[in-house]
Amino acid sequence: MFQKYILENRRNIVSSVCDLITFPSISEETNNSHFPFGKACSDSLKYFLSLASSLGFRTKNVDGYCGFAEFGEGEELIGIIGHLDVVPAKDEDWSYSPFVPTISNNCIYGRGAMDDKGPVIASLYAMKAVMDYLKENNIAIKKRVRLIVGLNEEKDWKCIDYYKKHEEIPTLGFSPDSDFPCIYAEKSVISLQLCEKLSEIQYTLRNRLSMQESQLSIEEIDCNQNAINVVPKFCSVTLFLKDSKYMSELISTCKQTIEECDYDIDLYKIDEHHLKISSYGIASHSAHPELGKNAISKLIIVISHIFSKWHISFPLFEDFCKLIGDDYTGKNMELNIKDESGALTLNPSQLFIKDNKVCISINLRVPVHTKPEEVIEKFKEKFSCEVSVLRIQPALYIEKDNFLVQKLCSIFNEACNSHFEPIAIGGATYARAFPNCICFGMNFPKDKDMCHQADEFVEINKLILSCNIYAKAIYELLQPFDSSSNTTISENG
Ligand SMILES: [Zn+2]
Repeated sequence: MFQKYILENRRNIVSSVCDLITFPSISEETNNSHFPFGKACSDSLKYFLSLASSLGFRTKNVDGYCGFAEFGEGEELIGIIGHLDVVPAKDEDWSYSPFVPTISNNCIYGRGAMDDKGPVIASLYAMKAVMDYLKENNIAIKKRVRLIVGLNEEKDWKCIDYYKKHEEIPTLGFSPDSDFPCIYAEKSVISLQLCEKLSEIQYTLRNRLSMQESQLSIEEIDCNQNAINVVPKFCSVTLFLKDSKYMSELISTCKQTIEECDYDIDLYKIDEHHLKISSYGIASHSAHPELGKNAISKLIIVISHIFSKWHISFPLFEDFCKLIGDDYTGKNMELNIKDESGALTLNPSQLFIKDNKVCISINLRVPVHTKPEEVIEKFKEKFSCEVSVLRIQPALYIEKDNFLVQKLCSIFNEACNSHFEPIAIGGATYARAFPNCICFGMNFPKDKDMCHQADEFVEINKLILSCNIYAKAIYELLQPFDSSSNTTISENG
């Protein structure tokens, strides 16, 4: 019933996605009250709101933090939540310019095509198809539908925090910002920090070198400001050697250690007192450490070996090697927990010096039936250094037979003639922003997830199919339904 409108508007849908891609809307927190997340984000929001208003929706710019488009009448509010900010894109990594939308092979290439500008436009036109259908057929509804778009999703969710403080919270809804058919469980996410004073580096006497002469310490660490939810692809540590006459011995110890470990690590002598060791890995999302190679873990292992050969002890690194090392499953800490949402993963994502302390930030994805507090306790028990919690994002867990999960999943399967089951993931999606909200699309099962990747693209046929699926979902959610069949959605932790 919505197919006709969506088919007729295929070109408009494509061109609206392209228009949105042209804004390099990387969220940056500014002090400017007109555009709290930067001008490009603000411009992309203005574009979205004027498009929505031209399609006949009521719109609101929520003080530059976010905005929404709405239709319908009545008390109850159905929410669709997406975002217009994007992650950065490096021109040199792309075959096409990331902010110049390019159509090739029936796909739209550009940053945000899949995360989350394409899905936002698909949702907007889906709303339009439903709104027109209801009008044409004189069908009165007693609910409203609101598409909310944030501008700080890729950073700190300050957009949605602001929305929650100032605007109406939907009774239920979905977020087109992850996977089809739909997601019923998301692991909890813990970010914690292990810190130890540089002064804890201890020197012991060795045969030939006196304690003073052999002094070797960590002077500088650089991991290219790696984000906490990314497996680091680079890290370097600059060592300072007090007595330069031992430099050649240090270099040979380093070379030997690097060879033994067989990691992608190189050595650079800066001057007679400074040696820089750089480690190279492969970046991936924190929820999928198995797809990456952790440059920080490998570097800590190598430095720890070098230290031990020089009879130097640094408890933080020693504990790290013993308890984590190159492992991301938590097995050495008895944290290799698994349930229906998958296995625990851990990612040492940052290494830095602050206030004369060396700190390691670790990002963990914890299965839904495990309490985050238990994991934190384990760290405090096993590590002798200071352990502090940066952030806990509680798990999202909705019974698989919940009304919303079942409804959305069956709408997808009907449209695709498939039999996929709701899924559990390790990521933290926008669906957590509201109660009774789950992720629904727009990545299709078995398709490569292009979010945050170079050459991000959306297939036009799938964009259009998603628009149809969203229209069906909106229409169904607008129908009166028995709320007793809607088992309560619980949050764990
Ligand atoms: Zn997203």
